[in-house]
Amino acid sequence: MHYLRDVDPEIEASVKNEANRARGGLELIPSENFTSLAVMQVMGSVFTNKYSEGYPGKRYYGGNEFVDVAETLAIERAKKLFNAEHVNVQPLSGSPANQAVFFALLNLGDTYMGMDLACGGHLTHGCPVNFSGKHYKCIPYGVDKETELLDYDAIKKQAIKSKPKLILSGLTAYPRELDFDAFQEIAEEVGAYHFADIAHIAGIVAAGLHPNPVEVCDVVSTTTHKTLRGPRGAMIMCKEEDRLRDIHHPDSKKNLAQLIDSAVFPGLQGGPHDHVNAAKAVAFHEALQPEYKVYASQILKNAKALADELMSQGLRLVTDGTENHLMVVDVWEKGITGKDAQNLLDEVGIFLNKNTIPFDERSPFNPSGVRLGTPALTTRGMKESEMKEVGSLMARALLKKDDKTALAKVKEGVSELCSQFPLYPELPDGYFKQ
Ligand SMILES: *Cc1c(COP(=O)(O)O)cnc(C)c1O
Repeated sequence: MHYLRDVDPEIEASVKNEANRARGGLELIPSENFTSLAVMQVMGSVFTNKYSEGYPGKRYYGGNEFVDVAETLAIERAKKLFNAEHVNVQPLSGSPANQAVFFALLNLGDTYMGMDLACGGHLTHGCPVNFSGKHYKCIPYGVDKETELLDYDAIKKQAIKSKPKLILSGLTAYPRELDFDAFQEIAEEVGAYHFADIAHIAGIVAAGLHPNPVEVCDVVSTTTHKTLRGPRGAMIMCKEEDRLRDIHHPDSKKNLAQLIDSAVFPGLQGGPHDHVNAAKAVAFHEALQPEYKVYASQILKNAKALADELMSQGLRLVTDGTENHLMVVDVWEKGITGKDAQNLLDEVGIFLNKNTIPFDERSPFNPSGVRLGTPALTTRGMKESEMKEVGSLMARALLKKDDKTALAKVKEGVSELCSQFPLYPELPDGYFKQ
């Protein structure tokens, strides 16, 4: 049966073309990954049809006994994976998850601190064009100009001065480990909530290879589709009790878990995406297996190997390397803009994204850097020796950008490497071809 082909050949063609593009190129965007086929199967299941506003055992609609089973499994597995007291798996994606945390803990206009976008923070950590910057007062913190590392003493001084109600830790383009204990200490000193957003590093945290903020902070949000390798979505984990109720919510009868749950639904969202939440359960089950730990550890080894190769080819990396799954390359130092580098590499089948570097003097639309990472290629089975090859191909393309023959050679090298590590080898060739 070819259900989609019979109904909508145009969209079927776009799916095949996308599958073929992904298989034929090197995916280095650090926020992307390839889910298992089991995860995708659940996303395409009958759970997409159901309405189930509310939470397991407390729904506004009937017929939810099996939705309850799946959502409860997702919650229990997430608790085990991160050692969490309370989990809400309903946030539709990372940005709405963060929005729900803001709704739960802050009033509009309240002051909080988040990492500057140019230094590696996320759009939802206070960017002026985002709800987090428009409707709340964000005092951004950044990195040290010399080391490009977070300076916790400076953050502490800033917190004492600006008395934030919340401190947001988390990264989207910062290639170093975060010291959640240091953030927590600062938050406790100034009477602020500590909210960690581990969208990028969740998989490394789950594998025990990065300090786990869930045991430390008040609230932690994460996407489920980045290093964690689940479906596109998010979740929020938190402590049961509101440590700061007397100071910040003296009239509230809710504990922290209840504040978060009611902010997600009915505060922000309506019906949960049950097909995605069931797929989250599958991904968490996978992440609890010993093989996942091997995978996460390989992501880190690969990132280090790739970073070392790029640096040995003469490229400058922000902070001179990486401790996590991602790195930021200062391509402007070689006279190439981030946008040109992204487009040039796209042409040869190397996919990454343009990104600002700390204290970037160029605009965010055409910044000085590119960001890349290893979660997706590691899922394809590549290891350190392939990373050396990837780094060398990438550096050659950048440094010989005007040499058509060299670029053609790089493109050939990319195809060769991709064919040795086929994406979704379980799927028939017809899935990738028109
Ligand atoms: C990716 C990301 C998000 C947003 O997730 P979306 O699913 O794209 O909305 C939020 N925070 C951080 C730190 C991220 O890296």
